[in-house]
Amino acid sequence: MTEQQGDLQLIGVTKRFGAFTAVDDLTLTVPRGSFFALLGASGCGKTTTLRMIAGLEEPTAGQVLLGDQDVTNLRPYKRPVNTVFQSYALFPHLSISDNVAFGLRRRGVKQYADQVEQMLHLVEMDGFGKRKPSQLSGGQQQRVALARALINRPQVLLLDEPLGALDLKLRRQMQVELKRIQTEVGITFVHVTHDQEEAMTMADTVAVMNAGRIEQLGAPVEMYDFPGTAFVANFLGQSNLLAAEVHGRSGDDLLVEAYGTRYTVPAARARAAEGTVWLGVRPEKLHLTTGEVPSGHQSATGLVTDSSYMGVSTQYLVRAPWGDELTVFVPNSGVAAPLSVASEVTVHWRPEHAFLLPRPAGET
Ligand code: ATP
Repeated sequence: MTEQQGDLQLIGVTKRFGAFTAVDDLTLTVPRGSFFALLGASGCGKTTTLRMIAGLEEPTAGQVLLGDQDVTNLRPYKRPVNTVFQSYALFPHLSISDNVAFGLRRRGVKQYADQVEQMLHLVEMDGFGKRKPSQLSGGQQQRVALARALINRPQVLLLDEPLGALDLKLRRQMQVELKRIQTEVGITFVHVTHDQEEAMTMADTVAVMNAGRIEQLGAPVEMYDFPGTAFVANFLGQSNLLAAEVHGRSGDDLLVEAYGTRYTVPAARARAAEGTVWLGVRPEKLHLTTGEVPSGHQSATGLVTDSSYMGVSTQYLVRAPWGDELTVFVPNSGVAAPLSVASEVTVHWRPEHAFLLPRPAGET
């Protein structure tokens, strides 16, 4: 393994399987020591990208760099990279300690007991060393798989849906754990997932992939608050997107029209400033009233078609006069009585909570 440290870079990385392009001209930088998530639907090319970083798949074109070193043509075992898969792939006949020690023993390291202890401690598995994998739960096996990879001190740890086999509660718990461990060891993590909440919870940077390309890359908060495209707005959480058209500008605001009503959106919240656009507002940024709309708010009237109690909030569906259903999350902390289905309501929002996204002509 090389001692070279640095950012992970993909430059124009492409993978074709016959005539099919699975990964299409990917260029990105993962800063050293950061937690990076590749997020996308099944088949968008996430695993293929990961396998090219690991050296398990050869790019059709492009380069993979680690620091100043071009590793594109290095065999997998020569790369300072380890992978943790969804199937933990622990050796069933070896004890937990021997599983964790595996990489060190293969490299001829003789004194490894302390390091194994440290690693088991890091993943909160102290005292489990003598057991066999079959005597552990799925979550515990996943922790051991992590320890087994981290003991090699890779520059980059690749995680391919590592929490995919865990139940939801354990999965949420492990997300917090993984983030803690990553911060503690300071190794670059590249995590593949199709779970947007998982990506947003853990990663410093999320890359949303779509059909072999990166649709948008950025910090989770920024991408959620002000997505770059309708695809990202819908993939990261839920969005209400109204087909609208820009009609002009007044000071710092853009004037748009959607279904015969005029709205304003700050120009700073627009990814497209003319022509056909999507006017977007997140469900938790929408409010409901049966009375007065607060001054300065934008609004639309509608009819409640569904209300679903979700514990911390209630999700309402409100049918607007033009037929779209708007999704509204109302926190359950308030004292207001729930709205019943078929109630007439006004949906309202602050202009600065809306955003405008490009809408190719004809897209509705
Ligand atoms: P998932 O979340 O389902 O694992 P993914 O985003 O990781 O999906 P990939 O496994 O990278 O997707 O696959 C991307 C595309 O490339 C898919 O359409 C897949 O069928 C195709 N593909 C992957 N490996 C091969 C292969 N060896 N030969 C032909 N096509 C392949």
